Amino acid sequence: MTEPMIADDEAWAAVLGRDRAFDGRFVTGVLSTGIYCRPSCAARHPARSNVRFFADGAAARAAGLRPCKRCLPDDVSRDERAVLSAIAAIKAAGQPLALAALAAEAGYSASHFQRVFTRHTGLSPAAYARAIQAERAAQALTEEDSVTGAVYAAGYSAPSRFYEATQGRLGMTPSAWVNGGKGVTIHWAVVETSLGPMLVAATDKGVCRLSFNEGPDALERRFPNAELVEGGAEFQALLGQVVVAVEAPGDFAHIPLDVKGTAFQEAVWQELRRIPAGETRTYAELAAAVGRPKAVRAAGSANGANNVAVLIPCHRVIATGGGLGGYAYGLEIKRKLLGKEGVQTKE
Ligand SMILES: [Zn+2]
Repeated sequence: MTEPMIADDEAWAAVLGRDRAFDGRFVTGVLSTGIYCRPSCAARHPARSNVRFFADGAAARAAGLRPCKRCLPDDVSRDERAVLSAIAAIKAAGQPLALAALAAEAGYSASHFQRVFTRHTGLSPAAYARAIQAERAAQALTEEDSVTGAVYAAGYSAPSRFYEATQGRLGMTPSAWVNGGKGVTIHWAVVETSLGPMLVAATDKGVCRLSFNEGPDALERRFPNAELVEGGAEFQALLGQVVVAVEAPGDFAHIPLDVKGTAFQEAVWQELRRIPAGETRTYAELAAAVGRPKAVRAAGSANGANNVAVLIPCHRVIATGGGLGGYAYGLEIKRKLLGKEGVQTKE
């Protein structure tokens, strides 16, 4: 029998929380009933003393257990296959596909398929397709000379559809994207914090860069054609909130962000925002949470591509075994950030 990938305590916590991110990573055997479940099973929780964890259904069956009829633990891999083939179909089509057709392909009802897909990717099939399309548009914008060319290259029927799909997601107007932030004003400041000098920069949509030990030259490289303005009245108010969030960690979900990434990067960043202060995740857990349990390295890269430190709390991702892992601004800052949140780290 293969060993479960995670510690029993963590597995039991996942069961108590009915955490779907753990489905497929182990099954819960209930010795008193002879049944095994996926971690998120909605049935009443068994007594801890009757529970044993197994790496997968095969291991549980080898121990004489039967799959639960309610949560169908052996269907987790079937779910994964269904989601992966739907993703492939959406990418090939380059546009949203009818939910009914995707569900029928997988042999699921539409509502069940919608749930399974959303659980794995964090997005509904329609939202996922829009994200793919916006990602292609962003890509095209870096390659095409004109916005109009990019719009059609990304498969939109008309410019208005493009603006509709990208608004609120990309943060900047599409024309600003073509040329290093052309037409965009970015306010910035470098302030002293307990973690050293901190650079904060924001467009009128939200914070676009938060980093340590960087000056405005770093902004110029990222947004060579944007208008960079030091300070500014409205910006000062936002800056105050950001400094509070960094010095006294708490809920900072209200601070607006202006970031762009690929659909996968944005899914990872969204997941990072869900990790509460005072908790950490491993890179493997992060990959599993966005429905790509094997994409541990890609999740690590997406973590590292984060432009807004602290507010997208990539410092809450640590190595398996409790080591600090890496951090773009050095382990000392990572250790201090976690320390502020009450997390004691090894090393
Ligand atoms: Zn069950």
